[in-house]
Formats: sequence, C-alpha cells, structure tokens
Amino acid sequence: MIMDMHSHTSFSPDAESSPEQMCERAEQLGLKAYAITDHCDCNYWLPESEHEYPVYAKDDTMMYGSRDYAQASIKAVSALKEKYPFLLCGIELGQPLQNMSAAEQILSMSELDFVIGSHHMNSGCADFYWLDYSSMSPSEVDKVFEESLVQILDMCRWGGFDVLGHLTYPLRFMVGDYGFDIDLRKFDDIIREIFLTLRDNGKGIEINTKGLRQNYGKPLPDERIIKMWKDVGGEVLTIGSDAHKAAELGADIGRCEDIARSCGFRYLTCFRQRRAEFIKL
Ligand SMILES: [Zn+2]
Ligand SMILES: [Zn+2]
Repeated sequence: MIMDMHSHTSFSPDAESSPEQMCERAEQLGLKAYAITDHCDCNYWLPESEHEYPVYAKDDTMMYGSRDYAQASIKAVSALKEKYPFLLCGIELGQPLQNMSAAEQILSMSELDFVIGSHHMNSGCADFYWLDYSSMSPSEVDKVFEESLVQILDMCRWGGFDVLGHLTYPLRFMVGDYGFDIDLRKFDDIIREIFLTLRDNGKGIEINTKGLRQNYGKPLPDERIIKMWKDVGGEVLTIGSDAHKAAELGADIGRCEDIARSCGFRYLTCFRQRRAEFIKL
C-alpha cells in the first residue's frame, strides 16, 4: 500500500486517535505518503467556544470542526513532520463557497501540504448524513443528489483545493442506508463537466475507500466513474481511507490501488506544499 491521503484525528469532533497515534500506525503500514486531513467545514467556521455542544456531540451544529480545531490540527501535524518524514499536513475543506472568507483564512496557512475540497451538505441544508430520506420519493432523492453535483461543479470552478473529496458521498446514505436505486448514468453529463473543469484547472479526484466499509459497499466514487476520470484525461488521483481512528488507517487502500490500475492509472499523486508529486503505482 502506497498512500493514505485522507484521515482524521482527535482534532476532528467525530474522530478519536491523536495525530501521533495515527502516525505510528502509518509507520507500521509502511506508507510512503500519509496525510492528516482534519475537518474544516467552512459554513461552521466558529471558534470552539461559540459552539453550544462539546466535542463528540451527535449534533450537526458541532460536527465537522470549528475554526480552533482546524487551525490547531494544522499546527500539531506540522510539528510532527520532522519525526515522520512521510507525513503531509492537510485539511478537508468543506463547503468553501458557503463561507469564502473562512476558506481563504485557512488556505493562507503556509504549513498546508494538501487540501481536499469536500461537499457534505447542500447550501442551507444539513449534512447528507443527517437527512431523513425515508420521507422522500425517489425523484426527490435524485434531486438532492443532482443539486449536490451542481454545487460541486461550482466548487470545482473556484478550484482552491488539490483534489475533490468523495464525489458521490450522499450515496453512502441514499443507496447504502436507505436502499434507493439510483441510476448514476443519468448524472454522467454533469460528472463529466466536473471532471473537465478539474482537469483544466490541474486538479484531481480522490478514491475514498470508506464506502467499501459501509452498507454502500463501493468506493466513492465507484470504478465506472474513476474510469470516466481517466477517459477525460484526468491524471491527478489520490487514495484515502477517511479513517477516523488509527485502526482504520489504510483500510481497503490496496483494493483501490488495484481499481486505479484497472482503470488505466500508472501513478498516484501526493502533495507537498500544495505541489503534486507522482508515485508509481
Ligand atoms: Zn468528508
Ligand atoms: Zn473525511
């Protein structure tokens, strides 16, 4: 296994291992590149003291990282880089367009090696994790998913990140947990548009292995869509477990490296100081 470019530490409210514990595990796994990418959901850009709930509260108002936690993560991770040369200091930037000044503030931190651009919630709505799909018809679910892609396309046109995180994140819940049968081919045009935009901006996508460990049972995005990225000339590709504890680090990475190979990729990408470095697959 070459890399794990997506993981969370105790600086994310929904994760439990310290950065040091994560690095020890990464060392055991022999990773060539390992990124800690704690949550920074820009639309929740508040100091920790202004959140009503403590860390780990199962409430959307607290999930996904306050300003204090995001900045503290970056400082703590960069302090560990000397001890762990394979370590990369990243952030998972959620909904940057929903609070651009927050996004700009975090992106101005010179310690950052790598930025994942993620979309966890449509504008004005709760995280896809929290939505009650049981009260929605299949066409309403399609609409929520389509709207997520429209907003992702806007984020890609802005392009202030390195790779697009888990493109099909809502499917973990819509398909995996609620059993909706979504025909993804209906969305190929907008996904292609997203990919062309990323390609033309020199950006990439990630294969997020977390869907394999959940009811959805596929990586995010799935193999057919990863192949679409290759077919439009996409070159930048990272793989990440989205581990929220040390024991999950590296989960299904090898399997997704095989998928990347079978889609025609010969290199994976890691980022240092926001610059792409290619590692032979
Ligand atoms: Zn995410
Ligand atoms: Zn994540």
